Amino acid sequence: MSKLTKLVIASNNKGKLREIDELLAPLAIEIISQSQFDAGEVDEPYQTFVENALAKARHASRCSNLPALADDSGICVQVLGGAPGVNSARFAGEPKSDTRNNQKLIEALQDKTDRRAYYYCVIVLVRHADDPQPIIVDGSWHGEIVDQPRGEGGFGYDPYFFVPEFGKTSAELTAAQKNRISHRGQALAHLVDILRIGKF
Ligand code: IMP
Repeated sequence: MSKLTKLVIASNNKGKLREIDELLAPLAIEIISQSQFDAGEVDEPYQTFVENALAKARHASRCSNLPALADDSGICVQVLGGAPGVNSARFAGEPKSDTRNNQKLIEALQDKTDRRAYYYCVIVLVRHADDPQPIIVDGSWHGEIVDQPRGEGGFGYDPYFFVPEFGKTSAELTAAQKNRISHRGQALAHLVDILRIGKF
């Protein structure tokens, strides 16, 4: 079993934090939000999810002096060459706005029939800020973008992300359904397995 007893989550995104909390519950470790420390928001200047996640995890660990976990994630749309991708949170510029991001996405897809898209998530866990061997896990979740929003659950692009096997958008799924199959759910399930066998 893992010796990890406390873990700081390097995010201020309430939707993400809720899902991460639920998905790490089986580990029975104390989950602490980085908002409890004077951590602010670190820059995410990189063009890969993993580099951004690593930067966020190291920053949270440095500010808290505790092990830290970061999620970097986004939605990649086939016909847009993978955009918004790593820029998903700020697709429509500053300040971050889910409403404007979704509007921009739907406009970009107006005359497109290929609606394939997938969510991608990478999770990085560092034992300390300079950890040379971070644990890195990832997951992806395929679906399609629809023009009309449906559902109240989830966050971000969820009302527009249609999941064919359920015939629903991800915002119409229950939290448990989304967590079982989502990009973040898959990544965190790998992480829980790794921590359970005590590789940390
Ligand atoms: P990050 O905080 O830089 O990783 O940005 C992630 C962004 O990707 C979020 O702000 C959302 O716009 C989008 N995103 C990632 N995961 C999800 C999800 O599960 N549902 C909806 N949007 C998501």
